[in-house]
Amino acid sequence: MRFFVSVCLFLILCFAPAWAVTAAAQSHVDKQSFGKTADGKSVDIYTLTNKSGAKVKIITYGARVVSIEVPDANGTLGDVALGYDDIAAYEKDQSYLGPIVGRYGNRIAKGKFTLDGKTYTLATNNNGNHLHGGLKGFDKVVWTGKGSMVAGVPRVTLTYLSKDKEEGYPGNLWVTVTYSWTDRNELKIQYSATADKATVLNLTNHAYFNLAGAGAGDILNHQMRINALRFTPTDDTSIPTGEVRSVKGTPLDFTTATPIGARIEDKYEQLISGSGYDHNFVLNKPAGTFGLAAEVFEAGSGRVLRVLTTEPGVQFYSGNFLSGATGKRGQTYPRRSGFCLETQHYPDSPNEPKFPTTVLRPGGRYTQTTIYQFSTRKA
Ligand code: BGC
Repeated sequence: MRFFVSVCLFLILCFAPAWAVTAAAQSHVDKQSFGKTADGKSVDIYTLTNKSGAKVKIITYGARVVSIEVPDANGTLGDVALGYDDIAAYEKDQSYLGPIVGRYGNRIAKGKFTLDGKTYTLATNNNGNHLHGGLKGFDKVVWTGKGSMVAGVPRVTLTYLSKDKEEGYPGNLWVTVTYSWTDRNELKIQYSATADKATVLNLTNHAYFNLAGAGAGDILNHQMRINALRFTPTDDTSIPTGEVRSVKGTPLDFTTATPIGARIEDKYEQLISGSGYDHNFVLNKPAGTFGLAAEVFEAGSGRVLRVLTTEPGVQFYSGNFLSGATGKRGQTYPRRSGFCLETQHYPDSPNEPKFPTTVLRPGGRYTQTTIYQFSTRKA
């Protein structure tokens, strides 16, 4: 008997560390409290960890991505998403750090649109226009979260019911967003929505990236390539004029990789009125197909971000209005210290019949898939 117990103990001691290591190396999803909003709503934080230990953190307030820890070319993990340390700071956020924006991401001119003969009036929260869903958009509400593992991939599914007339939009809208974090360091975002009245919607994620590390200075040396031959020029309040212009010969030509800062101060009217890059690029792929939107490379870290989407456009925003807010770890985020690649339909589509439609009708389903894929390469 004593011999049997000793053998058992011996076996446990031999194999336990191996089991522990295997368990630690498994992908997993964890949930913790992220505190409470000022009006007492509980907010959770989900951590999605993949086999290599790379992690993405998402909070239920605004369905926001709060951090993305991925390796540099030497294998050292670093956080490449701008964010804040606590819920109070997220509630004060003016820059839309990391959330799902909606019901309509980007702008609707003068906060008005007409659908099936009826004119709807929305909040005008940006130079007389409607921006990112209004005064209390999807970035400022608490979503319901649920973590799960599907085929070994950690994910969190977030749902939100936007009630009829919320922020002036017609119809109840049921929205589901799923973030998955694969072993290939891909953050996959799947969107789905249905409505009980005809409405408009344009959902996107508004993460700011700095591939050198959030808080590590400006993003002007990042090399940007955008899969777009055309863009939608805007007036001086960032509303598309209706024109679809070739990027050729303009500082918006990113068909070959070019540092973001190389032409950002050019005296080109679109850059002057946008205070830098803040434009919708028309993706060079057939409507509705999944394909490349952009690829970004940061030579210091060797990190590469590729963005793939089913959407027809991407808003490349070079963080022109960031103005030194204090973010995670006490670091500050000055002007142009992060960039966004917001995969979406074009701005102001409800007022531009020639743009791809953003109308959702009862019985229909809105879907969108976008992948932010991280890797490294040598300069
Ligand atoms: C817009 C910018 C705006 C930023 C933060 C971007 O999507 O295009 O003009 O300043 O979001 O609100």
